[in-house]
Amino acid sequence: TGGLLVYAESNVESRKQVVEQNQPESKKKRVVVLGTGWGGTSFLKDVDISSYDVQVVSPRNYFAFTPLLPSVTCGTVEARSIVEPVRNIIKKRSGEIQFWEAECLKIDPVNRTVSCRSGINDNLAGHNDFSLQYDYLVVAVGAQVNTFNTPGVMEHCHFLKEVEDAQTIRRTVIDCFEKSVIPGLSEEERRTNLHFVIVGGGPTGVEFAAELHDYVYEDLVKIYPSVKDFVKITVIQSGDHILNTFDERISSFAEQKFQRDGIEVSTGCRVTSVSDHFINMKVKSTGKHVEVPYGMVVWSTGVGTRPFVKDFMEQVGQEKRRILATDEWLRVKGCSNVYALGDCASVDQRKVMEDISTIFKAADKDDSGTLSIEEFRDVLEDIIIRYPQVDLYLKNKHFLEAKDLFRDSGGNETEEVDIEGFKLALSHVDSQMKSLPATAQVAAQQGTYLARCLNHWDQCKSNPEGPRRFKSSGRHEFLPFEYRHLGQFAPLGGDQAAAELPGDWVSMGHSTQWLWYSVYASKQVSWRTRYLVVGDWVAAQQGTYLARC
Ligand code: FAD
Ligand code: MG
Ligand code: MG
Ligand code: MG
Ligand code: MG
Repeated sequence: TGGLLVYAESNVESRKQVVEQNQPESKKKRVVVLGTGWGGTSFLKDVDISSYDVQVVSPRNYFAFTPLLPSVTCGTVEARSIVEPVRNIIKKRSGEIQFWEAECLKIDPVNRTVSCRSGINDNLAGHNDFSLQYDYLVVAVGAQVNTFNTPGVMEHCHFLKEVEDAQTIRRTVIDCFEKSVIPGLSEEERRTNLHFVIVGGGPTGVEFAAELHDYVYEDLVKIYPSVKDFVKITVIQSGDHILNTFDERISSFAEQKFQRDGIEVSTGCRVTSVSDHFINMKVKSTGKHVEVPYGMVVWSTGVGTRPFVKDFMEQVGQEKRRILATDEWLRVKGCSNVYALGDCASVDQRKVMEDISTIFKAADKDDSGTLSIEEFRDVLEDIIIRYPQVDLYLKNKHFLEAKDLFRDSGGNETEEVDIEGFKLALSHVDSQMKSLPATAQVAAQQGTYLARCLNHWDQCKSNPEGPRRFKSSGRHEFLPFEYRHLGQFAPLGGDQAAAELPGDWVSMGHSTQWLWYSVYASKQVSWRTRYLVVGDWVAAQQGTYLARC
């Protein structure tokens, strides 16, 4: 088997090119990696430096463990505990990888160069421009905040994306308390200073709200007891529920927990503008506009494409798309030798219905013009690898076998289908396609996958449908990137968290927090950061314990 998958690939021309340029040469191939976040770093850890000359470009010379960023805003975890210098990571790879602290400004896919600028954040020294040649380019630059062009957001809101953001938020929270205790203020003014608004009810917004709640009621009210009754935390969500990408049980558990804690959740509200003292929003159900005074706003509503990636998309014919598209082997569509992964890209999955005739022909081994159940059974495994939506469809329908799909026009079981019957059988599977979430889990798995593909490039060359993964069995397989969902976690404050693990396993309540910490501790990049995070956290627990005593 495996043959079927080959038919479904279309881009023969660009494949030839890749092979030709990859003929043996004395010089190592140059790989340029853009970004040192989850995707870039996991690629660097696994790429074979004996076969490649690797250069990394990123404006940040460290990796940041983003899942713990919300904890940095309240000091539960120290900033230095969640960062790992890129040079430490490189050192572990015998210093063969070169790192340049710079920002990529332009990708030129025709001449295979990237233009970069160093010193952008450095207002003293000015900047330097340079460019790099690549044989393979790995774009892992993540996404930028998305204001949806809402007026005033850039000027007046905080974001929670970088380590510096978390530190600024921490200082601002304290400033809001300091401002609220100044003598001579009206009660109204004190309330305004202590109104913390979070726009966006996704995991980051919810987690930050929970952290802030604990910080305020466990620590700050003891320092500022005179204003403790004036504090208010509001989460504004445009949809009907917070955490709407999670299981419903988790979403309502979080809503109930917030209600008990006195965190206000305003669902069905869209922010229309933000001024220096007010946030304006439209209530969807009534159509009314309301003006809410605030002390601090944290904007946490999804992500957008970086301008230089937009420019690159225009060059490769992707100007109509919202996000950079790759195929399932993470190759950027519309150009060769460029790969993209993580939050800056999305995998464009193939639709079964677009390839249906090719699949039918390949499966119909005896060229009879009809497909028997046996013929279909023989290729089903291949189809599922190539089109994961088929597997989801079969599972959702509780279909166990190929024959469950075979029905004649009257809806009765049948042994054989023609092309029309085959189209009918698979007509609904494409509705099961799900795009991968913008998470660290996805980015890290893609980085590892791509490194393995490049490491096995020689083997891939002799079978030029694209990079493939080699199973330990040694069987050559033509496997696209496959995401393994490890679950998601939503810490909800007060030692409570909700976890959703694969296989419909949902856990809510106290012990979940421990689970969450153990999972994240085990995913820390190095022992240094792992030790520090657990250390901070133990210190926080001891602090709480002492405070309770
Ligand atoms: P990033 O990790 O964002 O890395 C992008 C890199 O590119 C950075 O090093 C950046 O400096 C660099 N870069 C930017 N511009 C340029 C340029 N022009 N040239 C070169 N380099 C550039 N995911 C989870 O799975 N679980 C969680 O619990 C979780 N919690 C989160 C909490 C917060 C507060 C945030 C913000 C995110 C969280 N995420 C979580 C999401 C996760 O962090 C992202 O999905 C992940 O970082 C994506 O990885 P990436 O490599 O695509 O991008
Ligand atoms: Mg990255
Ligand atoms: Mg990161
Ligand atoms: Mg046949
Ligand atoms: Mg993200």
